[in-house]
This record gives sequence, structure tokens and C-alpha cells, in this order.
Amino acid sequence: MSSHDTELSPAESARRRALASLARLAGTSAALPFLASFAPTKVSAQTPAPIGAPATPGPPVRPAPQPGTRVVMLGTHGGPGIERDRAETSSAVVVDGVPYLVDCGYGSLRQLVLSTIGYQQLDAIFFTHLHDDHTSDLPALLSHQWTGGTKKTPTEMYGPNGTARLVDAALGFLRINAEIRTVDEGRTIDPATLFHGHDVVATAAPTRVLADDRVTVTAVESTHYPGRSTDRMPHRALSYRFDTKERSVVFTGDTAYSENIVGLAKGADLFVCEVMAQSVYDANVARAKEAEAAGNPVSIARHVAETHSTPADVGRMAAKAKVKTVVLYHLLPAARVPGSLDYAITNFTDGVRTAGFTGEVIVGQDLMVL
Ligand SMILES: [Zn+2]
Ligand SMILES: [Zn+2]
Repeated sequence: MSSHDTELSPAESARRRALASLARLAGTSAALPFLASFAPTKVSAQTPAPIGAPATPGPPVRPAPQPGTRVVMLGTHGGPGIERDRAETSSAVVVDGVPYLVDCGYGSLRQLVLSTIGYQQLDAIFFTHLHDDHTSDLPALLSHQWTGGTKKTPTEMYGPNGTARLVDAALGFLRINAEIRTVDEGRTIDPATLFHGHDVVATAAPTRVLADDRVTVTAVESTHYPGRSTDRMPHRALSYRFDTKERSVVFTGDTAYSENIVGLAKGADLFVCEVMAQSVYDANVARAKEAEAAGNPVSIARHVAETHSTPADVGRMAAKAKVKTVVLYHLLPAARVPGSLDYAITNFTDGVRTAGFTGEVIVGQDLMVL
């Protein structure tokens, strides 16, 4: 860490590192002007009011939305766990200034604020699956959307089986707060009228989830739960594709190698794909064998090894689908040292290339804009 970094807040340091790594890894500064439009709005407390100005300044002025399609990596931490510099999984597709959220792991709400996307006018959320590292911030997000008081349009949430139930549970969390504020502050909006969950059927071929005048969203079932589990539960995992008039972007969510995803991602501009280092795979295979020998055939280690993608798996999917650019996220392992990737990014990128993908490979960082 440079001495300059030590003068910055951790969040600002992370933001600057993300910018630097973006320019370095992508080999382009094309994303920088967009981030400038996302630059944190100056709060009034930092700007002395001129003499004679009203004592209460007006709300901060947000920059006008930029046209086009951008992807903002909000959280790139792999798996459940809280660390200082990476939030759990969450990404946003911003189309002509309108955000669509993909997953909402712990820290997403904070990252939405730091990115200056904000959360109050967020109307659409897509869940790849309902593991808690992809959903934990949902109750906080919905609760603060309601309490913020300026939300007029509903938030529609899409995801695999269980999503409607998850949204109902988040409403349950919010209800007591709403009861208090309805009596005590004269609130009139019933939270149930604002928040709606929709279960999406998981299919092998792409199924349309949403189409509006900015984007068409399609989904397939990914390979995050093995057959031995899906035989015994209704839960599934999804991957999403966003097609706008400028770009196509695929989010795999959590998955092992998947032919469904290859079909979904055909020719995509950005292939945002989870990854675990080969060393993580090897270690978990060894641990799963030990657990099985000790009488536990279904272990966490087996889950990790069987339901995530090695760099070679990512490269095979990317090459077969002929995507243009790979963006790695949900990075396993997570950093052991706060504030840095304490392993070489070549742990990920070399394996993707060795598997036959010849395009650009970007290792995602929190608050990276693509
Ligand atoms: Zn996950
Ligand atoms: Zn998962």
C-alpha cells in the first residue's frame, strides 16, 4: 500500500484500486468517463453555503444519466463470508441510466451507494439462486426503499423457485418497521404493494424473463446443484443474459461447466463468469475424499468442488460460446489479507486461456465499471 493510499478511506482506496486495475487489465480507459458520471455526489455539508444562502441546502444534484449499457461489478467476493474490501455477489446492468440488479449479497446496498447508482429507484432485481451470499442484503434493501419514502414504482424481483417466498420473508422483516412508522409518521404506503417476487421456471433452453423498451432478459438453469440434490429439492440456479441495443451481457451466477450456459452465452459481448482457482478445486476434492472416508459423503468440500468452475471450465464455456470478453467474479479463494488480492491474478487468467479462450480476460474488482 502506498503512502498516498494511507491518506484515503478504505472505500476510496478500493475505488481507486478498481479504477487502476480496470485500466491495467482491460488495457483501455474507455470505462473511465462513465465512472466519472458515477462519481460520488458532493454532499452539501462539504460545500460551505454562500452568505445569504438558505440555511437548509437542497438535495444533491445527480449527474444526468449517460446513454448506453454499462456493467458495474458491485460485489465480487466468492462464497459466503464478509471481508473488508469485497462485497458478496452483486452486479448491476445500467441501461440508459436505469439500473437492473443481479444478485444482492451482503454489502450490495452499500456498494449501490458507493457506485452512486443508488437504491431508491431500483425497480428490478434478478437472483441467480438463493444461497445467502447472493441474497443477504435483500431485507435491508427493501426496507430502506420503503423507509426512504420516495419510491413510487414497485420493485419486481425474479429468481428461481423460492423467490416469491424469499420476498414475502423480506416483507415480514419490514412489516414491524412499517407498522411503527405508519402510526408514528403517518405513512400510507403498504409495503406489499411495492415489492413483488416472481419464480422463474429453470429451463435448459433460454427462457424470456423480462422485456421492456431497454432490455430483454433471458435465463437458463445453471449447474450449481448436482442431480443428487435437485432430485430431493425444488431449488434451482439460473444464469441470465441481458440484451440491449448496444451490448449483450451474461451472468453465470454460481455454476460448474454448463452446456445450458454455452447456449445462453452464444456470441455475448461480456461473459461475467464465476471462478475458483484450480488450487481451491484440488484442495476441496482432497477434503471431500477425507470426509467421505470418515462417513460423510455429502460435505461442504464436495459441494464446492462439484458446483463451481475452474479457470479451465470458464475457458471451455467462453471458447465454445465464442464470447468476446470474459469477466471473472465470485472469486475463490477470497483474499486472506484485507485490502489486496494476495494471490496472482494469473491463477485465474492463465487457466482460462489455456482452455482455448483467446479473447480478453478481466478479473473483476468491486466497483469496476465495464
Ligand atoms: Zn455464491
Ligand atoms: Zn451458490
